[in-house]
Amino acid sequence: MVHAFADPKQAQQNNIVIAHELLHALGASDKYGVGGRPVYPQGYAEPDWPEQMPRQAAEIMAGRYVNAAGRVVMPPSLEQCVIGAQTEHEINVDAGFRQQYASSN
Ligand SMILES: [Zn+2]
Repeated sequence: MVHAFADPKQAQQNNIVIAHELLHALGASDKYGVGGRPVYPQGYAEPDWPEQMPRQAAEIMAGRYVNAAGRVVMPPSLEQCVIGAQTEHEINVDAGFRQQYASSN
């Protein structure tokens, strides 16, 4: 079940919700906590940056980022979302890629 936004202007954000729910089906866990705030560092698109640095992109399983005003916001579209390392591991992308490219070496 997906709780999508009904307003056509929010179609881009529906893509984020749908991708998030699809990744749950593949085994990914949520990366946000109280108030929808991303969990640092795994819930951040740039986990190597300091936590307080403003962001413009979200880790898909957090679904939101903290902007320059300190507000927790949803990206305007799926293009401002990334799949972080922990999510990759949960959905087995990292192991799958290793297997794929190990055989060609
Ligand atoms: Zn979720």
